[in-house]
Amino acid sequence: MMPDYHMHTSLCGHASGEMTGYVEEALKKGLPEIGFSDHVPMYWLAAHLRDAGLAMDETSFPGYVSRVLQLRETNPSIGIGLGVEVDYIPGWEKEAAKFISEYPFDYIIGSVHYIDGWGFDNPGLTDEYSRRDLGEIYRQYFDLICGSAKSGLFDVIAHPDLVKKFGYRLSPAPLELYRQAARAFAQTGVCVEVNTSGLRVPAGEIYPSLEFLRLCRSEGVPVSTGSDAHCPDLVGANFNEAAALLREAGYREVTLFRERKRIKARI
Ligand code: ZN
Ligand code: FE
Ligand code: FE
Ligand code: ZN
Repeated sequence: MMPDYHMHTSLCGHASGEMTGYVEEALKKGLPEIGFSDHVPMYWLAAHLRDAGLAMDETSFPGYVSRVLQLRETNPSIGIGLGVEVDYIPGWEKEAAKFISEYPFDYIIGSVHYIDGWGFDNPGLTDEYSRRDLGEIYRQYFDLICGSAKSGLFDVIAHPDLVKKFGYRLSPAPLELYRQAARAFAQTGVCVEVNTSGLRVPAGEIYPSLEFLRLCRSEGVPVSTGSDAHCPDLVGANFNEAAALLREAGYREVTLFRERKRIKARI
């Protein structure tokens, strides 16, 4: 069984359920370990430009941290990690680093959700895909993914081919971009995240694709696992498919995190 290290909470403004509900679901499904990784406050925007439907307010963050630590105390039968999903925004590395240094995180998930300010994974902003050259979108996206690894800020790179979310795909698949990303992950020592939420969107496929994950495997990149649950029911969702994908790509181990140190676990 694999840990679910990518779970959100209602604090982010677009997830539902109680945090205890996520823990109960994990216990019910027999997961060995979980971790909360809610969206970081939008540290790169002025306060009046931050969207309460996308991420929690800075003032709520200490409460999020203490709630996770408290749940860990009250649920000794399951490991509960303290994580956070941090947007990678070039030019704002110092601010991200400061945020990361202030809490006792077990792991930091780095995410690319913006290309030059365009929230390309936002269902309300998909018109932009037909206005731009898709090859250029993919190149910019993978540049940012490589940048997120090279920033040195993160333990895990989330949903590494998120750009396929709405089904806008390059044909043939951009293997050279995957290879560059896999090399950047290997060189910088980050884990690649196998994230099952891609099955629940038009892409209809786990992030990353099998071809991309195979390249990560051949570069020796370790793996982290997550559902990206935004409600308790989705904790550990489609983990059988994730395990099958991992095996097909040649993986036999996933990663457990303790205070930003790693332990290998057999799958
Ligand atoms: Zn979210
Ligand atoms: Fe994300
Ligand atoms: Fe997420
Ligand atoms: Zn995510």
